[in-house]
Amino acid sequence: MTQPTSDATAAPKSMDDIVALCRRRGFVFQSSEIYGGINGFWDYGPLGTELKRNLKNAWWTDMVHRELMGPFGAPVDIVGVDSTIIMNPKVWEASGHVSGFNDPMVDCRETKARYRADHLFVQRFELDGTTAGFATVGAGVDEARKAIDADRARRKVPHGYGGLANAIAKVRFGVTEAALDDLVPFDTLDATARAAVLAPEAKEVGTLTEPRMFNLMFETFVGALRSDDAKAYLRPETAQGIFANFENVVNSTRVRVPFGIAQIGKAFRNEVTPRNFTFRSREFEQMEIEFFVHPSQAPEWYAFWRDTRFAWWQSLGLAGGNLQLREHDADELAHYAKEGAGTSDIEYRFPFTAPGFGELEGVAHRSDYDLRQHAEHSGKRDKMKYFDQERNERYFPHVIEPSGGADRGTLALLCEAYTPDESRASKVYMAFHPRLAPVKAGVFPLVNKDGMPEIGERLYRQLRKRFVCEYDPKQSIGKRYARMDEAGTPYCFTIDGQSVEDQSVTVRHRDTQAQERIGVDHVERFLTERIGGA
Ligand code: ATP
Repeated sequence: MTQPTSDATAAPKSMDDIVALCRRRGFVFQSSEIYGGINGFWDYGPLGTELKRNLKNAWWTDMVHRELMGPFGAPVDIVGVDSTIIMNPKVWEASGHVSGFNDPMVDCRETKARYRADHLFVQRFELDGTTAGFATVGAGVDEARKAIDADRARRKVPHGYGGLANAIAKVRFGVTEAALDDLVPFDTLDATARAAVLAPEAKEVGTLTEPRMFNLMFETFVGALRSDDAKAYLRPETAQGIFANFENVVNSTRVRVPFGIAQIGKAFRNEVTPRNFTFRSREFEQMEIEFFVHPSQAPEWYAFWRDTRFAWWQSLGLAGGNLQLREHDADELAHYAKEGAGTSDIEYRFPFTAPGFGELEGVAHRSDYDLRQHAEHSGKRDKMKYFDQERNERYFPHVIEPSGGADRGTLALLCEAYTPDESRASKVYMAFHPRLAPVKAGVFPLVNKDGMPEIGERLYRQLRKRFVCEYDPKQSIGKRYARMDEAGTPYCFTIDGQSVEDQSVTVRHRDTQAQERIGVDHVERFLTERIGGA
């Protein structure tokens, strides 16, 4: 199921322009930039920090604090935890990450490029009825790209294979007509076939190494000795900190199944090919809920969370055709997902994935896999089972997990908000939802004299008790509006000559640039009505 289908023909925004604005206005910087950066790590500047914080706060407020109605007519119960990044390494043996959290990696001996073998798609050729080789279709990269896009659209390939077309070999045999098979990932080919693949940008055939499994967890050592006994990992997901605390939470609070535990925090993955700005980073933040239910109610809760989470992203302004919900096919299900259980991705069409989509959040029915694993590995066995007083039954609850990325979410908000507009001095404005906008209001005396700054400063001091605001008495008013447009500030209040006489100010609306007059006493209420207590 894919809904809603989107207008894949809309011209994508320029990622280069978005990245440039992020740097210029202090949304996102390269980590350690003065030393040339470090691949896969990003810092947030002042505006980006506010934006990401607003996103995380909205998530926490809406999921943990505010009342949500569940699928059985009772309010949804969720509590929070804040677990450590480094945990006992047995956690990661139990969860399957030590043995299974691997990506297949290949290197090109000729170009020295490195790829994820499962992201490198290959086209098989038939020549005179015999398999002649493996490469892309068409006479060159452009035709190959079209063929790949057509194939991707036909099969609804979900992920951000924006670099896919580049990552596919050019024609090997000069064949322009070929039987079109489905594109297949490199790591699914046998050794003979792999040796016949022409790698991206390579001149020779067969320059790709055999895929090697690479564990994505960052290792570290706890204590003074760097021995195997002291080895530990930086967590690759926040979820296990929740599972490991399941019993503690049940015993220390009044929550009863069905209930959820939420956590926001850092996760670390030594990604083979970090790319696409913050989309695939090596350090990032997750916003996860593990929601524990009676196994018989898992389907209803799964559907509830899938729909609730999709609607939540829509409510923050990702409302158009750039957002889609995609239910996984049976062959995509993760190791923990029971057959017949659902997994879906909430996907956003990033400029670098367009016309395809990239994952923003996964919603998965994880069955009772994790709790069982921890019960087994910790030696607690059946003692870790939950006792359901109402049902008079002891069982391992099933888990529905909405797992979103705070950085991917922030990136989607930045991409969605970025709106070129030639009619403005700034040529662009950031159309953030007012709730998420880093700065809620600008307060500007038209000129820095004649009683205007006094009214402006008073208003600013009043507003900043509740809202992040900027006061700027200098520069031309056009420049000040332009700065606010680039920051995505939804409202600017300007104090002019008339304000001194009748205590009114103009409100400038960011998206329409329309202006209206309201009393200076009404400004706080005006903002509260539009932004709320967010
Ligand atoms: P992908 O297939 O893109 O690697 P995933 O399916 O491995 O993602 P999950 O393990 O389901 O991702 O993690 C949940 C969420 O965490 C993702 O939806 C995404 O928002 C975020 N996330 C995962 N890996 C990264 C990363 N390397 N950089 C930024 N965010 C990430």
